[in-house]
Amino acid sequence: MHTNFSHEQLQDPTIARADAMLKRCVHCGFCTATCPTYVLLGDERDSPRGRIYLIKEMFEQGKVSAPVSYHIDRCLSCLSCMTTCPSGVDYMHLVDLARIRIDHKRSSAQKTTRWLLAKTLPSPARFRIALLFGWLARPFRGLLSALGMKTGAAALALAPSRPPSFKTPKRESLVRPAGAPVKRVALLRGCVQDVLEPSINQAAIRLLRRHGVEVVMPSEEACCGALQHQLGREGEAHKAARRNVDAWSSALREGPLDAILTTASGCGTMIKDYGHLLARDRGYAERATDMSRIARDISEFIYELGLLPPLAWTSLRVAYHSACSLEHGQQVGPEPRSLLSQAGFTVLEVPEGHICCGSAGTYNMLQPELSGQLRDRKLKNIASVKPDLIATGNIGCMTQLQRGSAVPVVHTVELLDWATGGPCPKPLEKLKDKVHPIQSLMELAGAR
Ligand code: SF4
Ligand code: SF4
Repeated sequence: MHTNFSHEQLQDPTIARADAMLKRCVHCGFCTATCPTYVLLGDERDSPRGRIYLIKEMFEQGKVSAPVSYHIDRCLSCLSCMTTCPSGVDYMHLVDLARIRIDHKRSSAQKTTRWLLAKTLPSPARFRIALLFGWLARPFRGLLSALGMKTGAAALALAPSRPPSFKTPKRESLVRPAGAPVKRVALLRGCVQDVLEPSINQAAIRLLRRHGVEVVMPSEEACCGALQHQLGREGEAHKAARRNVDAWSSALREGPLDAILTTASGCGTMIKDYGHLLARDRGYAERATDMSRIARDISEFIYELGLLPPLAWTSLRVAYHSACSLEHGQQVGPEPRSLLSQAGFTVLEVPEGHICCGSAGTYNMLQPELSGQLRDRKLKNIASVKPDLIATGNIGCMTQLQRGSAVPVVHTVELLDWATGGPCPKPLEKLKDKVHPIQSLMELAGAR
C-alpha cells in the first residue's frame, strides 16, 4: 500500500511503525472473506482492508474522524484476517496503534464507560461487587435498553442469575506433584475467569500435578492487561505487564521455569506479546521477551508433555469451539482437538469454525447487536453437529455461548482433568452415564 507521510510525520515512532505495517498490504482482499464483521455487514469499511485504509487516512491526516472510530470500534480483534493474509500484514499491532490514538479523542460518555470497564473487570474484588449489582439490577435491563443505554443493558444480560460468591478460594502459591517434578511452570490465575469459574484453574492444577508438574502461582501476579489493551488504555496495559514480569522474575529466582501457562487464551495471546509491548521499556524489554518466549496455552503444554492415558472412555460428542485468541492469536489449533480425542471424546468440527463467537473481551458489552448476531450464528453452526457438549479454551467464549445454549459449555482442561482421573465437571453431571471406566471396557472386550 502506498502511503503519504511527510518526513516530519515519520519522525514520530508511532507513525513510522504504522507506515511499515501499512506498506505490507497489497489490497488483495483475501482477508475480507474471513472477517466476521464483513461477513455480517458486507461493508468494505467493516473489513480488514477497509479498516487498514481508514487507519492510513487517520495517521496521514492527523485526525480521528467519526467513521474511523466507528468502524475500528466494530473490529473484534479476532485476528482471523491475520491467519488469512498472505502478505503478513501485522493487523494486530496496527489496530492497537489506531486504538490508542482513537482513545484520546473519545467523548466523555465513551471515556467513562471504558474507564469503568477497565477499572472493574481486571480487579476480582471490584468485579465481584459489580456482579452483585448486576444480579440486583437484572430486572431493569429492559429499562436501560429503552433508555438507549446499550452497554449497561448488555452488561446486565451477562450478569449471573444467582448472587456471586464472595468466598475467595484458597490460593496456594505452590503445588508440588507426588514425585520428583518433571517440569516447573508458572500458572496465571487471571482475573475474570477466577471469579466466574474457579473450577477451571483447579482442574488445570490437578491435571498438571497428575502429569508430574510443579505449579507456581506468585501472589504478586495480576490481570494480564489484555482488557485494558483492547480498550486502548496503553499505560494501564503496560503497568499490568510489568507487574507480571516482576512476579515471574521472582519465581525464576527460586528455580527455572519451563513455561508460563494460561488457561484463558485471551491472556495467552497477550503474554506472548509482552516482548513487543515492553520493547521500548529498558528495564523490562529483555525479561518480557523471555517471558513471552516461554508462554504457552495449557493445551499446548500438555500436548508437548504427552497426555496420560484416559481412565474412562466416553461416547460424548464434543463440539470444539476454537477461541479466536487461541486459533488466530496463538495459532494453536490441532493441539486441543487432538488432546480431546486422546482423552476419549468424539471431537466435532463446527462449520465456520474460524468465525468469532462475538465475545471478544469487552466487545459483547460495547457492541451488543453485532456480538449477539455472531453468537446466534455460532450457536446455529454448533447445533448443526448435534453435540452433547461444547468445549473451548477461553472464559469469554464460555460465557458468551452458555447464555444462548441449552448444551453445556466447559473448558477443555476440565475435560482432560476428568478423563485422567479428576471429578466430572459440574455442568456435565447429567451426562455421567455416558462415561465408561477403561477397566470395565477391557473386561467387556475380554468377555467377548
Ligand atoms: S489479505 Fe492482507 S494484503 Fe490482502 S488486503 Fe487483507 S490485509 Fe491487505
Ligand atoms: S480482527 Fe477480526 S473483525 Fe477485525 S478486521 Fe480482522 S477479521 Fe475483521
